Amino acid sequence: MFTDLVLGGRCVGCGRPGRALCRGCSAALPAQPHPAWPTPTPGGLACPWAGAAYDGAVRSMIVAHKERSVLGLRRPLGELLAGAAAELADGPVVLVPVPSRPGSARARGHDPTYALTASAARVLRSQGYAATATRLLVSRGGVVDQAGLDAAARATNLAGSMFCPSVSVRKLAGRRLRTVVCDDVLTTGATAREAQRALEAAGLVVAGIATVAATRKRSPGLSIHRDSSGLRLSSPVHSD
Ligand SMILES: [Zn+2]
Repeated sequence: MFTDLVLGGRCVGCGRPGRALCRGCSAALPAQPHPAWPTPTPGGLACPWAGAAYDGAVRSMIVAHKERSVLGLRRPLGELLAGAAAELADGPVVLVPVPSRPGSARARGHDPTYALTASAARVLRSQGYAATATRLLVSRGGVVDQAGLDAAARATNLAGSMFCPSVSVRKLAGRRLRTVVCDDVLTTGATAREAQRALEAAGLVVAGIATVAATRKRSPGLSIHRDSSGLRLSSPVHSD
């Protein structure tokens, strides 16, 4: 990438100078997606698949892509998302990114979730799938940042926060398409469940949820770190 060369890029996985993701770290990425049911599982959640666990190099890649627009990570992240979506692609699929909160994409100058979803659709098409990426969902706003909220609070915060504009649905009317909700990280599943609800409310079929990565199972809202001073509890950083 141009900016990587000018600014002296480094691998987000290991810090080696050069590409945004070096060959070694790229080769070490998970090759197999996995079912990623959150605990507790939001009622009625469609089957969730994730391309990787949310830690290590994958976590660094997602954060760098989201916060610093490191474009060289778009393809490998798209490949992880595509692997998860492929598990749900039984026929033509429309990959639907969860919408950004109003203002957040503009503030960053890009829409990282849509960018990854579009990348995943390109990967799937190159593998012979009939896949497109379409922004079918819009956020109504009024949602507070999810960081620090537990699963129940997230669900309440998000209830009714997304909708599917009727013009988007009319374009798909009469085509036997299934949708897949796409996001970067699955944490509690509250965001994915709300996106699923909004698509189903518009009469669309949701085949499942696909994410680049999923947090590992743990106590709701807390994670345990072991360091030299013993055990510590902390809240997850990611805001689902
Ligand atoms: Zn590396």
